[in-house]
Amino acid sequence: MRGLRIEIRGTVQGVGFRPWVYRIAHEVGVAGRVHNHARGVTIEAFGGDGELDTLVARLREPPLPARVRELTAEEIPHEPASDFVIVHSAEGGPRALSIPPDLATCPDCEREIKDPANRRSGYAFTNCTSCGPRFTIATGVPYDRPATTMAPFLMCPACQREYDDPRDRRFHAQPNACPVCGPQLVLWSHLGVPLFTEEPIAGTAARIARGEIVAVKGLGGFHLACDATSDAALAKLRLRKHRDEKPFAVMVADLVAAHVHAVVSAEEAALLASPERPIVLVPRRPDTPLARGIAPETELVGLMLPYTPLHHLLLAAAARPLVMTSANPSDEPICADNHEAVARLGDIADAFLVHDREIATRCDDSVARVIAGQPTLIRRSRGYVPRAVALARAVAQPVLGVGAQLKNTFCVATGDSAYLGPHIGDLDNVAALDFFEAAVARMEDILQVRPQVIAHDLHPGYPSTQYARGRDALRHVGVQHHHAHVASAMAEHGLTGPVIGVAYDGTGWGPDGTSWGGEILIADYARYERFATFRPIALAGGNQAIKEPWRIALALVDDAFGDDAAADHLIDRLAVFAGVPQQSLTVARWMIRTGIHAPLARGVGRFFDGFGALGLVRPEATYEGQVAVAWNLAATPGPYVQRSYVAADDAPPGPYVQRSYVPAVDGLADPYPAALVRGEIDVRPMVRAAVTDLLAGVAPGVISARFHAAIIAATAERVRAAAAAHGALPVVLTGGAFHNPLLAEGIRAALADMSVYTHGEVPPGDGGIALGQALVADAIVRA
Ligand SMILES: [Zn+2]
Ligand SMILES: [Zn+2]
Repeated sequence: MRGLRIEIRGTVQGVGFRPWVYRIAHEVGVAGRVHNHARGVTIEAFGGDGELDTLVARLREPPLPARVRELTAEEIPHEPASDFVIVHSAEGGPRALSIPPDLATCPDCEREIKDPANRRSGYAFTNCTSCGPRFTIATGVPYDRPATTMAPFLMCPACQREYDDPRDRRFHAQPNACPVCGPQLVLWSHLGVPLFTEEPIAGTAARIARGEIVAVKGLGGFHLACDATSDAALAKLRLRKHRDEKPFAVMVADLVAAHVHAVVSAEEAALLASPERPIVLVPRRPDTPLARGIAPETELVGLMLPYTPLHHLLLAAAARPLVMTSANPSDEPICADNHEAVARLGDIADAFLVHDREIATRCDDSVARVIAGQPTLIRRSRGYVPRAVALARAVAQPVLGVGAQLKNTFCVATGDSAYLGPHIGDLDNVAALDFFEAAVARMEDILQVRPQVIAHDLHPGYPSTQYARGRDALRHVGVQHHHAHVASAMAEHGLTGPVIGVAYDGTGWGPDGTSWGGEILIADYARYERFATFRPIALAGGNQAIKEPWRIALALVDDAFGDDAAADHLIDRLAVFAGVPQQSLTVARWMIRTGIHAPLARGVGRFFDGFGALGLVRPEATYEGQVAVAWNLAATPGPYVQRSYVAADDAPPGPYVQRSYVPAVDGLADPYPAALVRGEIDVRPMVRAAVTDLLAGVAPGVISARFHAAIIAATAERVRAAAAAHGALPVVLTGGAFHNPLLAEGIRAALADMSVYTHGEVPPGDGGIALGQALVADAIVRA
């Protein structure tokens, strides 16, 4: 007989891990105890060699959503224990966050709500230790029912028995509830008047079938729901929401339905069905019944599966795919409170499906895409927050990184864990700032830290920078935008540096007064040097050029063709400029030539905007990045969807297909030429070649593929030069431009012999930058 102390770290709290350990210990036949503590879970087990080995083996494979990140076992003296018990641990020691992310409804709970004989049949708030709300209902620590928005609901005797029984799936399930004792749904009119004559879910489904828009209170906030197959409903939603072209997410009942609407690979299916349940961007099928208005101008559609019992019931009742878009007027944060929703959404929604469980912290849906065969988060929020990013080296003291301006999230790093906050959105309105401040305060409360090191972007005008500087702290550390991106990618992969960091995005404050965003840096956490960048172009009118990419196209043409006569001639012939008033063109050219109100920018995203405007004849964008994304998709045209589609039908029994960007990669054989001048990648030869092709009638898809190939080839050449100068360092690809699979996969392929890291759970774009800020600040403060 022996004894083992087994330490487990990972997602092991609030996910039914201890009861599961209790059950397998009894099955295997070992005695001892299990308890939770700040760092994870400790098991002390006593038994024979075979039993203990079996226990350790089984502990490595917990059921989802639990995850074991690290398991260590050490011998301890045998104790003559006769039973295996769950010990309720005393608080104390440095706190690691004990609140897990919100978890999608588990299969057991889904069966119960669909079983007419079950006492939770049709009950929208069913959950257990493997599933249900967590972060969004937590009001404090420790994570216990009194510190959640379930506190007002007194458990009935049946629920209490489940809660108290370690053999029950609902043992210590803090949000445990049933129709007798738990939250209730009610349907409201658009004025907030209860409609007691309508059964809430059936009534909502009927209204949606009639083409109405219903605001539905979900886990982290309200969605606006409507019939995703109805052009009329979509047109109404776009009109009322003042949103012309930005795609809407669609919720489908299950994976079978997902395959009806989109070409879904095995990796994408796994991501869709994961406990985190993000929105997954996938190519839609040509014959999908989804309304074109879902995503009018892209072949991609954002699908998600139901993640609460309410969603399962609603999808079943509606019997159709539903648009489920975050309910917020224009760019403000997602609505979370019933009365706030009526006040802010009364003009948009025809009715409200509400309930009386409060949302403590708003949390938007996460958005993911499979890039280079790997799940990559574009927006990391519900389902992932507040799961920690494990740090290879603990921070010296708690640090707050406040993020940047767009797609803001913040990060609190303490000990060897970094906690990214929920998606806040663009910090350009008061509501978003309020949400930002409240979410930072909630995270600090939960972690019980008040960081004295605060990291912010170098841009003095960002509200996040102003917040950071306005807060009392021992150290305020400004971190260069692209250095933070690189550090974020390093942190995600546990790299200590130095690395060759390729940081490509739209905009970031550069120390030389230009806007950076095409940077190849040699960096570790404490410092960076720029190895290469792109020749800058003038943004005529500053930010106006981002909304009107014809201005960027004009700057590219003006720069590439130099003398007035040639440029004049081209401006007359290129279609993108045809609709622009002559006066605007003249003023913009004057700005470009004089540099007045025309800041210089090196962002690769801006080149996508400018080439996209030229190639696709898209003088304007209705939201940031719109033309850049369209330009990316132009290089992965119909044949690629078509090919996969045919393969899908040819590949029984599973609908899964192996998709690849083969057509686009074919195009990579012929990149446009780029020059290299004093370490700067010069795109003028690319512009000249692309314009020649355009005027010769070459298809935009081909031009886009050659453009991508040129960026990839130039990047790979500079990375190899960096490796020649600094050694074969690991390479990280980071920044919002790497939401583009073609760019990420192309550079990876071109550098196949090097160690190249891309993002996974931390977004490549500004939604991941706060992590890098925090770690750079930590390194600078230590030094
Ligand atoms: Zn469950
Ligand atoms: Zn109950």
